[in-house]
Amino acid sequence: QQEYLRKPDWLKIKLNTNENYTGLKKMMREKKLHTVCEEAKCPNIHECWAVRRTATFMILGETCTRACRFCAVNTGLPNELDWQEPERVAESVEQMGLKHVVITMVARDDLKDGGAAVLAETVRAIRRRNPFCSVEVLPSDLGGVRENLQIVMDAKPDILNHNIETVRRLTKRVRARATYERSLEFLRRAKEMNPNIPTKSSLMIGLGETKEEIIETMDDLRANNVDIMTIGQYLQPTKKHLAVQKYWHPDEFAELKEIAMSKGFSHCESGPLVRSSYHADEQVKAANAQ
Ligand code: SF4
Ligand code: SF4
Repeated sequence: QQEYLRKPDWLKIKLNTNENYTGLKKMMREKKLHTVCEEAKCPNIHECWAVRRTATFMILGETCTRACRFCAVNTGLPNELDWQEPERVAESVEQMGLKHVVITMVARDDLKDGGAAVLAETVRAIRRRNPFCSVEVLPSDLGGVRENLQIVMDAKPDILNHNIETVRRLTKRVRARATYERSLEFLRRAKEMNPNIPTKSSLMIGLGETKEEIIETMDDLRANNVDIMTIGQYLQPTKKHLAVQKYWHPDEFAELKEIAMSKGFSHCESGPLVRSSYHADEQVKAANAQ
C-alpha cells in the first residue's frame, strides 16, 4: 500500500481557464500535431503561448517505445514515420508567431536512427519559414549512437537539451532503457561536435534523492560541459506512476539554484513548477551572451 503525501500549497495553482486557445488547439488537431503544453496540461501555457511566444511540440507520434515510470506518454507500437510532420510543425510555428520553440520526441527505439532524421528536418523546416525563431531540440538518447546525434547536431539547433531526469542512484528505477552514463555521454558528445551550441539538462526532484545526490548530478553535468540546468518538482501523473517522496520547498529550490550557479552553469531555472522548457527563451539569450 502506497502512502501519498499531501500536495503543499505552493503547488496548488489555478489553471487559467479564461484563456481561449480554441483556434490554436483546433489547428493542432487539423495538422495532427501534439504539444507538451496541452498534453501535460502545463500551468504555464498562457505565459508561454500568449506572452513569451514559446511552445513545446512533441514529434514522431504519441506512442513511445519506452515506459519510464514518471512519464504519462503511452507505451506501445509507434506510428508510421510521417515525413510531412516537419513542414506542419514549421507552419504552426509561423501561425503562432513563436519566438522560441522546443521540439521534443518520443523514444523511437524501433528506428535505426532513433528518429534523428525527422528531428533534424523539423529544425530545418522551422528555420526556412521562421528565420527569427530560435529552435531548441530535446531528443531521447537516440539509442546512444554517435551518428544519430551527429544528424541532429548538423541541423544546428540553438540549444541541445537532453534530460538527465534523476540522480545516478535512482536512474534504473525511474527511466526505462536509459542510463545515467549514456545521458552524460550524449551531452558531452554534443558539445564536442559543436562547442558553439549550448547544452542543457533537466532534473526532476522529489523521487527520493538527497541534496548531496542533486549536487553530485550538478557536478556530473558540469564535468560534461553542460551549460544550462533546470530543476523542477516531480508530480505523479497517475496512481500507476512513481509516488512523490518529497515536495521540495521553494526556498530549497532557490538554494539549489544558487549552488548550480556557483558550479558554473550559465543559467539555471529552479522552482517547483519549472519544466524543461520553462523560460527557455531567456536561456538562449543567457547562453548567447557568454
Ligand atoms: Fe509548454 Fe513548456 Fe511552456 Fe509548459 S513550460 S507551456 S510545456 S513551453
Ligand atoms: Fe516518456 Fe521519454 Fe521515457 Fe518515452 S522515453 S516514456 S516519452 S520520458
